[in-house]
Amino acid sequence: MAEKRDYYEVLGVAKGASDDEIKKAYRKLSKKYHPDINKEADAEEKFKEITEAYEILSDPQKRAAYDQYGHAGTNPNYGGGGFGGGYSDFGGFGGGSGFGGFEDIFESFFGGAGGGRGANPNAPRQGADLQYPINLKFEEAIFGVEKTIKYNREETCHTCGGNGAKPGTQPVTCSKCGGSGQINVERQTPLGRVMSRQTCDVCHGTGKEIKDPCPTCQGTGHEKRAHEVKVNVPAGVEEGQQMRLSGQGEAGTNGGPYGDLYVIFRVEESDIFDRDGSEIYYEMPLNFVQAALGDEVNVPTVHGDVKLKIPAGTQTGTVFRLRGKGAPKLRGSGTGDQQVKVKLITPKNLSDEQREALRNFAEVSGTKLNEQQSEGFFDKMKDAFSGKKK
Ligand SMILES: [Zn+2]
Ligand SMILES: [Zn+2]
Repeated sequence: MAEKRDYYEVLGVAKGASDDEIKKAYRKLSKKYHPDINKEADAEEKFKEITEAYEILSDPQKRAAYDQYGHAGTNPNYGGGGFGGGYSDFGGFGGGSGFGGFEDIFESFFGGAGGGRGANPNAPRQGADLQYPINLKFEEAIFGVEKTIKYNREETCHTCGGNGAKPGTQPVTCSKCGGSGQINVERQTPLGRVMSRQTCDVCHGTGKEIKDPCPTCQGTGHEKRAHEVKVNVPAGVEEGQQMRLSGQGEAGTNGGPYGDLYVIFRVEESDIFDRDGSEIYYEMPLNFVQAALGDEVNVPTVHGDVKLKIPAGTQTGTVFRLRGKGAPKLRGSGTGDQQVKVKLITPKNLSDEQREALRNFAEVSGTKLNEQQSEGFFDKMKDAFSGKKK
């Protein structure tokens, strides 16, 4: 099978596309490639691809996972509820009786929030959820910080209060559908003429007609406005974690509540430390004299330097634990530890005096060095490379 295409690419939208843009792109493409409409050989494959992309990108959690991990972060496990069910219904198309047409499929796809077929078109519907990444420094994620974020969102129009009608006027009941939001349409199908219910093309399912649209929102009831939110980032958050801010998404319709905002934390890496949850890891370089004789050293932690006693005879790879010098535990209480792992550094470019001291050390330790011979070998190599002859 060919490599999976990027979901944003599949839908032809930008990475930062709003939920509305994604929904529009999906509606457009799925109509174009619907196998009932499009008889090209690859139409069904394309339709599946589009549906899968929409399933992921329309769900804030799945979208966040996809943004972070790509296809590995998603689990397109079809056959469950929602889309999977919708699509397998489609598989029986043509054989079933009374199957209205693809509009019905869309209704079942998009109708989850109360706008389904037969539901009251005037029922309040919650607005779309939004996503916003917040960049944090390594320390900010550990200690928490207050951030003010600013973004554009659809808000309830302040001129008309959301009903879309010019102040002083009111929306009236739709003349075409009588307020139901649905109309009967006769369709020619492979099985003959079929009557089906479709969304009213005059009121687009709202059941209301606006004769004098509001000058601010042109009748949509919404307007794009800059919105500011203070976010209290809790101490101990980690890369990729999300926080839901209720009601900070986009305006609902028919007086429905605002959607939610999902902030995603993007945590900068540290040059010094590694972190996993509440544990912080630090690799401490020691020279072999410190390790052999013991020492007291200053160890950097995010809470400031800490003195650490190195016992005589410490081996490379030894781990010391600094209790409570890690990150706060996000769930539960307390703070993690900092683990300090010793890394022995072998000295380079020794002076003659240092060399002499080490030879003496070797002698009293009973270590027989073959130093002269190895030096001679490398000297010969050097000469060979530079073309000199002894
Ligand atoms: Zn308005
Ligand atoms: Zn209507």
